[in-house]
Amino acid sequence: MRNRINYKVRLPKWLTRLFPEAIWRMPQGENTLYLTFDDGPVPEVTPKVLDILKSKNIKATFFCVGDNVKKYPQLYKRILDEGHSVGNHTHNHLQGPKYKTQNYLNNISLAQSYINSNMFRPPHGVLTRAQYNAISASFNIVMWDVISCDYDKSLTPQQCINNVLDFVRDGSIITFHDSIKAQKNVLVALPYIIDTLMDEGFSFDKIELPKKIPFDGINDDKTDKLRNNINRLLKGAS
Ligand SMILES: [Zn+2]
Repeated sequence: MRNRINYKVRLPKWLTRLFPEAIWRMPQGENTLYLTFDDGPVPEVTPKVLDILKSKNIKATFFCVGDNVKKYPQLYKRILDEGHSVGNHTHNHLQGPKYKTQNYLNNISLAQSYINSNMFRPPHGVLTRAQYNAISASFNIVMWDVISCDYDKSLTPQQCINNVLDFVRDGSIITFHDSIKAQKNVLVALPYIIDTLMDEGFSFDKIELPKKIPFDGINDDKTDKLRNNINRLLKGAS
C-alpha cells in the first residue's frame, strides 16, 4: 500500500515548492535510504539508538539541539566517533515563525558553536521566508520525505512502522527522534523498520552535503549588527 496520500507522514508537493532549495529527498537510483534523528542527544535514548545502528552496521544523521550537545558532549562525541553525521537543529529547539529573524539566527549560531555542521533542519519544519533565505546562504537545509511520527505518544510502535514502510521510496530521508517523548516508539520501530527495508533490498547511509559559506561570513547591511550579537552570545556561552 505505498503512495497513498497522507500529508502528515509524507509532505505535500506544494510545501516542498515553497522552499525549493531545501533538500527533501536524496538522489535516487541506488536504493539508498537516509535515517535521521532529531532533538538529541539525550542519555536516556541516544545511546540505545546508537547501539541499534551499530548492531546493524548503519550510518545515520543526527540533527542535534545545541543545548543538549552542551550538556552531553560525550554523547555528541560518540555520534561522531561511530561515523554518523550531524546537523544543527537550533540551540533551544525554536520554532522559527515565533521569533524575530535575528534572534532565531543568533540561536542557530549559538548551536553552531557546539555543532560543527553545514546542515540545518528547522524544528517543526517551519521557517519564515527571511529566515529561510538567511540560513540557506550558509547551510544546506535538510527537510524530510517521510516522518515516523514517533514523537506522538498516542501512536503505537506499529503505527510508526506503518508510517515509514507505507511511504518510503528510493532516496527517502526518514525522520525519527532520539528524544524522551519518542523513545517508546522509536526504540521498538527502528530495528523492525531497518530489518524489513534491508530485506527489501534497501541500504542506508548518512547525509553529507557540500560546504557553504561560513555562517558568520554573510555580508549585507544588517550583518555587522548580527555578528556583534552573535559574538556577544558566543562569549556568554563559553
Ligand atoms: Zn525537532
